Amino acid sequence: MSFELITIPCLSDNYAFLAHDAADGKTLLVDVPEAAPISEALYKKGWRLTDILLTHHHQDHVDGLAELLKSHPARVIGAKADQNRLPPLDEAVVEGDIITVGSNNGLVIDVSGHTIGHIAIHFSNSKLLFTADSLMALGCGRLFEGDPDQMWGSLSKLATLDPDTIVCSGHEYTAANGRFAITIEPKNSALQNRIREIAKKRSRNIPTVPSTLREELETNPFLRPDSTEARHNLGMRNNTDAEVFAEIRRRKDNF
Ligand code: FE
Ligand code: ZN
Repeated sequence: MSFELITIPCLSDNYAFLAHDAADGKTLLVDVPEAAPISEALYKKGWRLTDILLTHHHQDHVDGLAELLKSHPARVIGAKADQNRLPPLDEAVVEGDIITVGSNNGLVIDVSGHTIGHIAIHFSNSKLLFTADSLMALGCGRLFEGDPDQMWGSLSKLATLDPDTIVCSGHEYTAANGRFAITIEPKNSALQNRIREIAKKRSRNIPTVPSTLREELETNPFLRPDSTEARHNLGMRNNTDAEVFAEIRRRKDNF
């Protein structure tokens, strides 16, 4: 059975996600910024937590784990590459591994760039992709550890998935990302429309996450280094996609 998804705002701008398979009574949590809102969501839904996936080691994605496990024991899954700096794992995974939650099989994808060892997981039957701080709504994570080539390689893998895939990313940064994106492609009408939708949602305190991969492919500058308009504006008509991506990332860092 496909997952039912809920998005849980945590801390000031983080998101955690619960994916529940009703037929098998399994519930997966992706990232644990803090325990309280997650416990509350589980309680309200009457779901029993069975699995926890940690996307990367940053505190705002793992800090609530110890407290949550006290009341909600579950299998903890994370990247083998990050085992030395993640909380204790029950299962350490590498790219290509499959994480099974009820009848849902999630493919582990290495999306290093923001950190080395950051993973995403793709549940194709539910069309859900958990990306945390790799591909984000209208953006991508800052390159704390990896280089632009590596992040471009990571995003390129995600870009090949079904455009109907729902992208569950880690932060509410979308409005600020939009202010930057429009400087790269001011004439992109899909981007203009999306920025209007984001403003409407945020004025009512509605999350802009998750998004669809289709929206990201049409509007996210970090997936669009092949855009004629972007290349023209950057003066990079003859560069590689990786070079254009690197320039867009550099500009965002200085924006
Ligand atoms: Fe992070
Ligand atoms: Zn984060």
